[in-house]
Amino acid sequence: MSRAAAREAAEGTAGGPLDAYEMVIGLEVHVELSTRTKMFCSCPADFGGEPNTHVCPVCMALPGALPVPNRRAVEFAIRAARALHCEIARETKFDRKNYHYPDLPKGYQISQYDQPLARNGWLEIDAGEGPRRIRIRRLHMEEDAGKSLHGGETGGAGGASGEGGEESTLLDFNRAGVPLVEIVSEPDIRSPEEARAYLEMLRATVLYTGVSDVKMEEGSLRCDANISIRPRGSKELGVLVEVKNMNSFRAVQRALAYEAERQAEALARGERIERETRHWDENRGVTLPGRSKEEVNDYRYFPEPDLVPLVIDPAWVAEIEASLPELPEARLRRYQEAGLAYKEAWTLVGQRELGDFLDATVAAGAPFRQAANWLLGEVSARLNETGRPLSELRLTPAGLAKLIALVEAGTVTATLAKRVFARMLESGDDPEAIVEREGLVQISDEAALEAVAERVIEANPKVVADILGGKEKALAVLVGQVMRETRGKANAAKAGEVLRRRLAALREGRG
Ligand SMILES: [Zn+2]
Repeated sequence: MSRAAAREAAEGTAGGPLDAYEMVIGLEVHVELSTRTKMFCSCPADFGGEPNTHVCPVCMALPGALPVPNRRAVEFAIRAARALHCEIARETKFDRKNYHYPDLPKGYQISQYDQPLARNGWLEIDAGEGPRRIRIRRLHMEEDAGKSLHGGETGGAGGASGEGGEESTLLDFNRAGVPLVEIVSEPDIRSPEEARAYLEMLRATVLYTGVSDVKMEEGSLRCDANISIRPRGSKELGVLVEVKNMNSFRAVQRALAYEAERQAEALARGERIERETRHWDENRGVTLPGRSKEEVNDYRYFPEPDLVPLVIDPAWVAEIEASLPELPEARLRRYQEAGLAYKEAWTLVGQRELGDFLDATVAAGAPFRQAANWLLGEVSARLNETGRPLSELRLTPAGLAKLIALVEAGTVTATLAKRVFARMLESGDDPEAIVEREGLVQISDEAALEAVAERVIEANPKVVADILGGKEKALAVLVGQVMRETRGKANAAKAGEVLRRRLAALREGRG
């Protein structure tokens, strides 16, 4: 069977080696916190910068330098954890995770092992088959490593392009010590689509809390996956493979689909699955073997001797929680209850600025459904066309609410409203002023429509004959002609009425 066919099988549209198996997927997501300073020192935590300018003895691990926890980072971690429905520990501590890597100057990472900050959370996702809860095992705090730039690669802003040559590796420690939270799901995910839905919901939720900009392209959101397959109906877990190096949500989905299929094919050939770490190769669309997976005891975790345990005051947690905004989950429910389909609601929730704009437009007096239609329709189309954020459009919620009111009152037709909308974006003017200035008021006046209807009837004898001969549907052609004659300003319903009346008179005259 071809790869493509097997992939189809993975999606359940044809038979294939995966049919007999169920995927068991867990995700480990790292989120960089947008604190001003690093986790254990006062160096700036900003992305980019000239290499090795955001460093000090603490994050460079010089002898004698001591870490001091960043209170703001702990607050941000609690904020994210509560948004993910996690329980916050009363007491938490830091541990050393020992491993050697060139971009880890200390030879260990300060992380959390057996007493993470938070546990037992969940996220509700919908991958097209209705809502489902994915449990979150834990959320813990840790520090980021530096960056290795291999031969010719460039770093962030002010990267090290061209220096060092092909064979060399350059090290940038600006990122070393930036606060991270790692969010580990339970292996509750059953398909690549669910993995993506989980990531999208996680990203939106963290974004709403304001603790990270969660940009996968800048590395402030990173995802590793654990995947195994097992015969359908089995409760035992298969051999776990870790997949790394996925740089977009789409890559996660593709990598997991590929990996599940690879494992099923290997089993079908009678091979054994190796417990290992594999790397996703985006260009070739395959996972390739990396090092074999470390066991937890390879890291020789032990309590960080330079830091005392943190006692978390529940009153502080309550205060942080009270300051959370409405989160995607709640907003999604509210929009669905207001009549939107799941996909429509998710479009407005997943792109927070659209949801915020919708709420503000409704607050300015617009009916919910109409405001949602504008945002899902014309506004989204304009954003896709220009590739710019909503904040750069010359459109305010109050302006959109006024435009909707003009349509509701029958002052402008739906067709003309689109023209007014385009003018609003060009000029930033009030819709009423535009309608006035350009004479775009809808023609509902019967005498004016009669005159146009008369001309249209005279100009289209064949259509008129069809209608009189019983082809009622052809009336739409005449209405369309009236709209054209009036450059879209006619009230279509009224125009239809006037035409029908005149045609009836014609029929009687003939009979
Ligand atoms: Zn530092």
